[in-house]
Amino acid sequence: MTTGHAYGVFSTPADPRKRVGVSAGENIIDLASAVRNLAPELTPHVAGPSLDALLAAGPQAWAEVYATVTSWLTSSRDRIEPYLVPSASLHLPFSVADYVDFYASEQHATNLGRMFRPGQDPLTPNWKHLPIGYHGRAGTVIASGTGVVRPSGQRRSPSGEITFGPSQRLDIEAELGFVVGMPSALGQPVGLEEFEQHVFGVCLVNDWSARDIQAWEYVPLGPFLGKSFATSISPWVVPLAALSAARVSPPPRTEPLLPYLDDEKTAPWGLDVRFEVRLNGHVVSRPPFASMYWTGAQMLAHLTANGASLRTGDLYASGTVSGEGADQRGSLIELSWGGQEPLSLPDGSTRTFLSDGDEVVISATAPAPDGTLLTLGEVRGHILPASP
Ligand code: MN
Repeated sequence: MTTGHAYGVFSTPADPRKRVGVSAGENIIDLASAVRNLAPELTPHVAGPSLDALLAAGPQAWAEVYATVTSWLTSSRDRIEPYLVPSASLHLPFSVADYVDFYASEQHATNLGRMFRPGQDPLTPNWKHLPIGYHGRAGTVIASGTGVVRPSGQRRSPSGEITFGPSQRLDIEAELGFVVGMPSALGQPVGLEEFEQHVFGVCLVNDWSARDIQAWEYVPLGPFLGKSFATSISPWVVPLAALSAARVSPPPRTEPLLPYLDDEKTAPWGLDVRFEVRLNGHVVSRPPFASMYWTGAQMLAHLTANGASLRTGDLYASGTVSGEGADQRGSLIELSWGGQEPLSLPDGSTRTFLSDGDEVVISATAPAPDGTLLTLGEVRGHILPASP
């Protein structure tokens, strides 16, 4: 049995109210009910219809709730039996404030650089000096399981014709998301060592991407409508406390870092999170988060280096997780190498990009504190036809 657990929001047919639950293996614990009876002093943190109050409660409250649930799971399991929920619907777990997406995998950035800017250095000159990112659209972060309508937009054909229509290169990006709990003040950067004071935990992210729209629109200001139509997140937020055994050193840095990003003398925040990407039930990739060049702590330090403040519910994602191997790439544009090398699926069909009706499931595991594997759950989504 794993001692790690995660937090989410659920409802049941018998009781459609949204409430906070704990995922522990196969079980969901009705946390609000359990706390009301077994640890009433924690009630204010988990009583609402989302994780918002828990996120805002801060690191001391996070530790108290985590220790309480861990003790139930390890030494007094019979006490929580009455609060186990057999089957439930899962919902968007928190109110997303701002959404930022990074580009922290050297392999992904190199692969995309080769495809989007052939003949030039695949990594831009800034890449190893700062975690590159952009501001995304918080309002279109959606719950796992929600259908994604194929976006339409402007694209330019290879012959130079400019048209408007449904994306023909609809893609996925397997990413890790960091969920901010504690806000920070405007004008006050958050240093590397303050990461655990502000970030509550992580979730899985599928940053759906329309490559044809993206390729035409992104110069010179970066991603826009090719990204903003939908971003799916997993229902379970795994607290940093559950990832203590997954911390690893990030890859060696090949360029010296400015002091605010230099993590050589701090405890490492690389994470040995192992992703699996399934397309219509078939595993197409196993991206390793441990190979990410930039850590979540560095992303947060950079995100606030100019004094930009944090709000409870801010979500920042890592960017596509891609490893060295051809079977470790976290997007279809890499797996099919720009559409030139179609993937074969067991039903005999092939894919370069997503077809209507396709379902993508991204799941992940990580080493748990007790030596077993902790599941980070999954983020699921399927493609609906473009609006007429
Ligand atoms: Mn992305």
